[in-house]
Amino acid sequence: MKTIFSDTANLRRIHHDLGLNKLKLNFLDKDIEEKFRNEYSEKSLLSFRISFVTLILLYSSFGYLDYTTSGDLYKQFFVVRYLIVFPVLFSVFLWSFHKNFVKVWQELIAVCFVIGGAGIIYMLLRNPDNIYYYGGMFLIFMAGYFFTKLRFFHAIISGLLIMVIYNLGTILFQALYGIQYDYLIITNAFYISANIIGMIALYNIELLERIDFHQKHLLIKKQNEIEIINQSLELKIKKRTRLLDKRNRKLKKEIDFRKEIERKIIIAKEKATESDRLKSAFLANMSHEIRTPMNGILGFADLLKEPNLTGEDQQKYIKIIENSGSRMLNTINDLMDISKIESGQMDITISEVNIIELTEFIYNFFKTEAESKGLKLFLSDEIKGLKVFQSDREKIYAILINLIKNAIKYTIKGNIEFGYHLENNELKFYVKDTGIGIAQDRQDAIFERFIQNEVKDKHIYEGSGLGLSIAKAYVEMLGGDIWVESEEGKGSQFYFTIPFKKIKEASEAKIINTKSEDQIRNLKILIVEDEESAATLLSILLKDISQEILHTKTGVKAIELCRDNPDIDLIMMDIQLLEMNGYEATRNIREFNKEVIIIAQTAYAIAGDRDKAIEAGCDDYIAKPIKKELLLQKIEKLIRD
Ligand code: ADP
Repeated sequence: MKTIFSDTANLRRIHHDLGLNKLKLNFLDKDIEEKFRNEYSEKSLLSFRISFVTLILLYSSFGYLDYTTSGDLYKQFFVVRYLIVFPVLFSVFLWSFHKNFVKVWQELIAVCFVIGGAGIIYMLLRNPDNIYYYGGMFLIFMAGYFFTKLRFFHAIISGLLIMVIYNLGTILFQALYGIQYDYLIITNAFYISANIIGMIALYNIELLERIDFHQKHLLIKKQNEIEIINQSLELKIKKRTRLLDKRNRKLKKEIDFRKEIERKIIIAKEKATESDRLKSAFLANMSHEIRTPMNGILGFADLLKEPNLTGEDQQKYIKIIENSGSRMLNTINDLMDISKIESGQMDITISEVNIIELTEFIYNFFKTEAESKGLKLFLSDEIKGLKVFQSDREKIYAILINLIKNAIKYTIKGNIEFGYHLENNELKFYVKDTGIGIAQDRQDAIFERFIQNEVKDKHIYEGSGLGLSIAKAYVEMLGGDIWVESEEGKGSQFYFTIPFKKIKEASEAKIINTKSEDQIRNLKILIVEDEESAATLLSILLKDISQEILHTKTGVKAIELCRDNPDIDLIMMDIQLLEMNGYEATRNIREFNKEVIIIAQTAYAIAGDRDKAIEAGCDDYIAKPIKKELLLQKIEKLIRD
């Protein structure tokens, strides 16, 4: 601040920067000015009160000097001191506690300054030779300018007013009491100097106050700006954090997704490795399953050529060849079925299924086989009156055959029981054996393709490992479920369910015996077969039930023969014929003969062939190699129906 008065340019700049009135030092902006005054009042009020009380006490205590130095005048001075100035000052002090005081406090102090000053001037004029009153005036100026917190403008107005009062008073009182002019000049010189000093000092003080206020508010403004910037920064940071969070979440999702893919890849890899392992196992198994029966067939066929064979040996070898052949056929059938299932070509054909007939047929079919192994086979039929329902006959047949075949295969002694009952609108079938059983941890795996249980003496149990997976696929296609309960060494119980869809009673009553035994024996049979050996085999197989057997190699000729012989009872129709195949020939025959029994026969045994044959008009279907027992069962059944 030392430069304020030495450098007017600087002062001008400060006035300009702060927006101040040069004379009054007020802020030009009214709002700022009001704020300044409020703040100034607030922080000055306490020091004002302290200094004002001190001044009142001083002013009062100086009455002692009046009494000791002013003779009789003291009474007048006491009036001025205690009845005029003191009450005014004290009232102002008391007023300072009122809330409205700050609105007028500067003016009030200015008035106090002038009244206090005027009081001393009166005493000075009445007792001009008493030096104490000249000194008192200095105290008045000091109080006005420095102690009472009077602002610059009010202070100079009051200071100047006191000067005017003094001069006017002197001139007026000179006429009365004769005051000397040299006193006036000297006193004025001192008082004016005191005022100038007070003015300059107060100007500086107030300017500093205002600069301080200005800077403080500038600081607050800046702080507010910083606060706003901070807030907007915080907002931006929050926004950014949210964005980052979002990205993080997205990233996490992506990572999770990738992890999931990795997991799937690992699983797929494991599956691929497993499937690779299974395929190798399968190939080894297949090789074994094909080579073993082939070895039997070729080996014993060779032995049959030996010249000195007894009839008994011949029968023995033929039996071995037959067994080996049927074992190989089983494997081939399984392979065909599984490949059809895998390629999605296995269809479902819903038709009427006579459950009693089906289970009894299976029972009769396996009874001898079981007995030959020393096992007892039981069929329990718990459903009274239930005969016919709707499902895929061939598939149920295949499932049961598979389970019973396994039961016989994996049971050394004891018995095998199978049956069914109705449970929750489902037919629940079971096949129970007292065989070797299946370890707990393998009970799910055995339904997988090419999987076989890890058993001792594995070579004893021939098999491709496909039977149960075919059964499972069939059960699932029909909307059911398959599972096993088993204990090692004690036996197994396989279950499967098939949704039960009942059909009309009328169709249930279809199974009635209509033909007599004689009618079944003396049949006129037409064999349609282009392979000589197959035709010969068929005529041998049918010898017992035939009266007359006709033979042709073509479909066309078969139609012709049928036309010429309307009394033919049975046609054994081969499917793979040259020119016209068996389906077509059957369709043609059915145009003029609905009665004749036609059984289709094929060497390409694929599940689905039966449906095609039935669709073409055949009554039943049999796959080569033809088993005599099965063929005769079929024929008997068809004739009886
Ligand atoms: P396989 O041709 O080997 O019999 P399957 O798919 O029919 O193939 O059966 C799979 C495996 O399940 C068999 O190798 C055998 O270990 C086990 N298994 C199936 N049925 C039985 C059963 N009734 N008793 C004991 N083990 C069985």
